Amino acid sequence: RSKGKGLGRYEIFDSSMLDHVMTRLELETDLRKALNFQEFIVHYQPILEMKTQRIIGFEALVRWQHPTKGLIMPAEFISVAEETGLIVPIGYWVLDEACRQIHTWQAQFPASPPLSINVNLSPRQCAQPDLVWNISKILKKNELDGRHLKLELTESLIIDESGSAKTMLAGLRDLGIQVQIDDFGTGYSSLSYLHTLPIDTLKIDRSFISRLGTSANNTEIVQTMFSLAHNLGMKVIAEGVETNEQLSSLQTMQCDFVQGFLFAKPVNSLEAGALLNKPHAQPGSE
Ligand code: C2E
Ligand code: MG
Ligand code: MG
Ligand code: MG
Repeated sequence: RSKGKGLGRYEIFDSSMLDHVMTRLELETDLRKALNFQEFIVHYQPILEMKTQRIIGFEALVRWQHPTKGLIMPAEFISVAEETGLIVPIGYWVLDEACRQIHTWQAQFPASPPLSINVNLSPRQCAQPDLVWNISKILKKNELDGRHLKLELTESLIIDESGSAKTMLAGLRDLGIQVQIDDFGTGYSSLSYLHTLPIDTLKIDRSFISRLGTSANNTEIVQTMFSLAHNLGMKVIAEGVETNEQLSSLQTMQCDFVQGFLFAKPVNSLEAGALLNKPHAQPGSE
């Protein structure tokens, strides 16, 4: 036991590195199993129209219902899924599930325009040459019009691979799918550049919303983002709205859509369906 060659090799690691490698390997193995055993679930967080304060759609957010560790949040596994490529099959599963769910809700809760669904796409997913084709098949399978699917991409993705990204964006637009910039403001893209692409909505990152009202300067930065976006004909969603003060500040900035704990946390499909049963979401009433 003590003389195995294998053991000797580990001497180049300190024990914390070994811990780290083991945890990662374990996580990767577990993620593969999770796919096979269908341990992923989708939670839904409402997105509201500012003007009417009505739910116009949801963002689909993946969770992992681990058999022994309980509910695991994306921060714990998305990066490993991304590195290993497992995000590709996981991402298609989320898309399929979210499209199926929104189609069900559209029938159950008719609205005009119909409810829409936002799904996050990671860089690895976007690098798949058959992405657009696969999405078109998922739409067809779930009888969902592409106009009711919104895909959230980050700025870095658009800048890094602008060549292939442009082809992908054009393909998505042909399916009627809207592309939105997630976590806007945390990357380095310029609005005037984004404007040259078929992108018409920005989701302003939560970090900007949480700093609203903390200083005149911070508020002005967000105000400027809104003015620029609106001048370029883009719509704006504020992410991570938590207080009524933030909400009223956003109201004066003509924010188009809001999403955040003030209205609802991401919840399972049953609870999300119940939110649709209420005529209005009620901000601030806890
Ligand atoms: P994101 O796309 O920016 O999603 C918004 C995150 O902010 C969610 O965290 C949501 O729960 C959280 N959030 C929303 N409103 C509030 C608020 O008022 N206060 C606070 N403190 N947080 C709020 P979540 O669900 O943990 O997801 C984290 C990230 O994981 C997502 O950030 C997204 O980048 C990634 N992710 C989640 N699901 C998927 C997926 O299906 N595919 C891919 N590729 N990435 C995903
Ligand atoms: Mg998102
Ligand atoms: Mg975001
Ligand atoms: Mg994100």
